[in-house]
Amino acid sequence: MPHRGVRQFRPIMDEKMDDLEELYQELIMDHNWKPRNFRVMEDATRSVDGFNPFCGDTVTLYLKLEGQVVSDVAFQGLGCAISKASASMLTEIIKGKTTEEAEEVFDRFRQMLTRGLGEDFDAEGLGDLEVLSGVSEFPTRVKCATLSWHALRGALRGDKTVSTESSY
Ligand code: ZN
Repeated sequence: MPHRGVRQFRPIMDEKMDDLEELYQELIMDHNWKPRNFRVMEDATRSVDGFNPFCGDTVTLYLKLEGQVVSDVAFQGLGCAISKASASMLTEIIKGKTTEEAEEVFDRFRQMLTRGLGEDFDAEGLGDLEVLSGVSEFPTRVKCATLSWHALRGALRGDKTVSTESSY
Protein backbone atom coordinates (compact mmCIF):
# COMPACT_ATOMS: atom_id res chain seq x y z
CA MET A 1 0.00 0.00 0.00
CA PRO A 2 1.46 3.34 -0.99
CA HIS A 3 2.19 5.69 1.80
CA ARG A 4 0.10 8.83 1.70
CA GLY A 5 1.73 11.69 3.46
CA VAL A 6 -0.08 14.74 4.66
CA ARG A 7 -0.05 17.20 1.87
CA GLN A 8 -1.08 20.74 2.15
CA PHE A 9 -2.86 22.25 -0.74
CA ARG A 10 -2.54 25.93 -1.05
CA PRO A 11 -4.06 27.62 -4.03
CA ILE A 12 -1.43 29.36 -6.05
CA MET A 13 -2.42 32.97 -6.11
CA ASP A 14 -1.50 34.84 -9.18
CA GLU A 15 -2.17 38.52 -9.50
CA LYS A 16 -5.56 37.97 -11.07
CA MET A 17 -6.71 35.86 -8.16
CA ASP A 18 -5.54 38.54 -5.75
CA ASP A 19 -7.56 41.13 -7.60
CA LEU A 20 -10.61 38.91 -7.48
CA GLU A 21 -10.19 38.23 -3.78
CA GLU A 22 -9.86 41.93 -3.20
CA LEU A 23 -13.00 42.66 -5.16
CA TYR A 24 -14.85 39.98 -3.17
CA GLN A 25 -13.64 41.47 0.11
CA GLU A 26 -14.67 44.93 -1.01
CA LEU A 27 -18.18 43.82 -1.94
CA ILE A 28 -18.61 42.00 1.36
CA MET A 29 -17.42 45.02 3.34
CA ASP A 30 -19.61 47.33 1.29
CA HIS A 31 -22.70 45.28 2.14
CA ASN A 32 -21.51 45.12 5.76
CA TRP A 33 -21.09 48.87 6.18
CA LYS A 34 -24.06 49.86 4.03
CA PRO A 35 -26.51 47.00 4.35
CA ARG A 36 -29.36 47.19 1.83
CA ASN A 37 -32.95 47.12 3.07
CA PHE A 38 -31.76 47.38 6.66
CA ARG A 39 -34.92 48.46 8.42
CA VAL A 40 -37.94 47.33 10.36
CA MET A 41 -40.82 46.60 8.01
CA GLU A 42 -43.97 47.76 9.74
CA ASP A 43 -46.36 46.11 7.33
CA ALA A 44 -44.51 42.80 6.97
CA THR A 45 -46.76 39.78 6.51
CA ARG A 46 -44.09 37.48 7.95
CA SER A 47 -41.13 38.00 10.26
CA VAL A 48 -38.65 35.54 11.69
CA ASP A 49 -35.94 35.85 14.34
CA GLY A 50 -32.81 33.90 13.56
CA PHE A 51 -29.87 33.11 15.82
CA ASN A 52 -26.47 31.63 15.08
CA PRO A 53 -25.05 30.49 18.45
CA PHE A 54 -21.66 29.65 16.92
CA CYS A 55 -20.85 33.28 16.21
CA GLY A 56 -23.55 35.21 18.08
CA ASP A 57 -25.20 36.57 14.94
CA THR A 58 -28.83 37.60 15.18
CA VAL A 59 -31.18 38.56 12.40
CA THR A 60 -34.81 39.51 12.07
CA LEU A 61 -36.06 39.00 8.55
CA TYR A 62 -39.20 40.72 7.32
CA LEU A 63 -41.18 39.64 4.28
CA LYS A 64 -44.17 41.00 2.52
CA LEU A 65 -45.89 38.25 0.62
CA GLU A 66 -48.43 39.05 -2.05
CA GLY A 67 -49.84 35.73 -3.13
CA GLN A 68 -46.78 33.66 -4.07
CA VAL A 69 -44.54 36.69 -4.63
CA VAL A 70 -42.12 38.22 -2.14
CA SER A 71 -42.94 41.84 -2.92
CA ASP A 72 -40.70 43.29 -0.21
CA VAL A 73 -37.97 42.05 2.09
CA ALA A 74 -35.94 43.77 4.81
CA PHE A 75 -33.82 42.86 7.81
CA GLN A 76 -32.41 44.02 11.10
CA GLY A 77 -29.76 42.41 13.20
CA LEU A 78 -26.34 42.32 14.76
CA GLY A 79 -23.60 40.10 13.54
CA CYS A 80 -20.31 39.58 11.79
CA ALA A 81 -19.54 40.96 8.34
CA ILE A 82 -20.36 37.65 6.64
CA SER A 83 -23.80 37.33 8.22
CA LYS A 84 -24.69 40.93 7.53
CA ALA A 85 -23.41 40.97 3.97
CA SER A 86 -25.25 37.74 3.21
CA ALA A 87 -28.52 39.12 4.62
CA SER A 88 -28.07 42.35 2.68
CA MET A 89 -27.49 40.44 -0.57
CA LEU A 90 -30.46 38.21 0.22
CA THR A 91 -32.80 41.19 0.34
CA GLU A 92 -31.60 42.42 -3.05
CA ILE A 93 -31.85 39.08 -4.79
CA ILE A 94 -35.09 37.76 -3.28
CA LYS A 95 -37.26 40.84 -3.77
CA GLY A 96 -39.75 40.17 -6.53
CA LYS A 97 -39.13 36.43 -6.62
CA THR A 98 -41.81 33.81 -6.10
CA THR A 99 -41.57 31.68 -2.97
CA GLU A 100 -40.51 28.74 -5.14
CA GLU A 101 -37.75 30.75 -6.83
CA ALA A 102 -36.56 31.98 -3.42
CA GLU A 103 -36.18 28.40 -2.19
CA GLU A 104 -34.26 27.54 -5.35
CA VAL A 105 -31.79 30.38 -4.76
CA PHE A 106 -31.29 29.18 -1.20
CA ASP A 107 -30.63 25.61 -2.37
CA ARG A 108 -28.08 26.78 -4.91
CA PHE A 109 -26.43 29.12 -2.41
CA ARG A 110 -26.18 26.33 0.14
CA GLN A 111 -24.72 23.99 -2.46
CA MET A 112 -22.05 26.56 -3.19
CA LEU A 113 -21.20 26.91 0.51
CA THR A 114 -21.15 23.23 1.43
CA ARG A 115 -19.31 21.92 -1.61
CA GLY A 116 -15.99 20.13 -1.17
CA LEU A 117 -12.62 21.73 -1.73
CA GLY A 118 -12.07 22.42 -5.40
CA GLU A 119 -15.57 21.29 -6.33
CA ASP A 120 -17.41 23.37 -8.85
CA PHE A 121 -20.77 24.99 -8.34
CA ASP A 122 -23.54 26.47 -10.41
CA ALA A 123 -23.59 30.22 -9.80
CA GLU A 124 -26.53 30.92 -12.07
CA GLY A 125 -28.92 33.35 -10.44
CA LEU A 126 -26.72 33.94 -7.42
CA GLY A 127 -25.55 37.42 -8.41
CA ASP A 128 -23.38 39.10 -5.77
CA LEU A 129 -23.75 36.04 -3.54
CA GLU A 130 -20.99 34.41 -5.52
CA VAL A 131 -18.48 36.55 -3.61
CA LEU A 132 -19.26 34.43 -0.55
CA SER A 133 -18.11 31.23 -2.27
CA GLY A 134 -14.79 31.26 -0.35
CA VAL A 135 -16.73 30.80 2.88
CA SER A 136 -17.07 27.10 1.99
CA GLU A 137 -13.54 26.60 3.30
CA PHE A 138 -14.63 27.66 6.77
CA PRO A 139 -17.47 25.42 8.02
CA THR A 140 -18.33 27.55 11.06
CA ARG A 141 -18.64 30.63 8.87
CA VAL A 142 -21.05 28.80 6.58
CA LYS A 143 -23.57 29.16 9.40
CA CYS A 144 -22.96 32.92 9.44
CA ALA A 145 -23.63 33.08 5.71
CA THR A 146 -26.77 30.92 5.79
CA LEU A 147 -28.42 32.40 8.93
CA SER A 148 -30.59 34.92 7.10
CA TRP A 149 -31.42 32.25 4.50
CA HIS A 150 -32.68 29.88 7.15
CA ALA A 151 -34.76 32.80 8.42
CA LEU A 152 -36.07 33.34 4.90
CA ARG A 153 -37.06 29.72 4.50
CA GLY A 154 -38.60 29.77 7.97
CA ALA A 155 -40.62 32.82 6.98
CA LEU A 156 -41.80 31.17 3.78
CA ARG A 157 -42.88 28.14 5.78
CA GLY A 158 -44.52 30.11 8.57
CA ASP A 159 -41.96 29.64 11.38
CA LYS A 160 -41.31 32.33 13.97
CA THR A 161 -37.73 31.52 14.95
CA VAL A 162 -34.80 29.62 13.44
CA SER A 163 -31.40 28.58 14.71
CA THR A 164 -28.34 27.36 12.86
CA GLU A 165 -27.61 24.93 15.68
CA SER A 166 -28.85 21.84 13.89
CA SER A 167 -28.76 22.86 10.26
CA TYR A 168 -26.40 24.09 7.63
ZN1 ZN B 1 -21.03 35.28 12.12
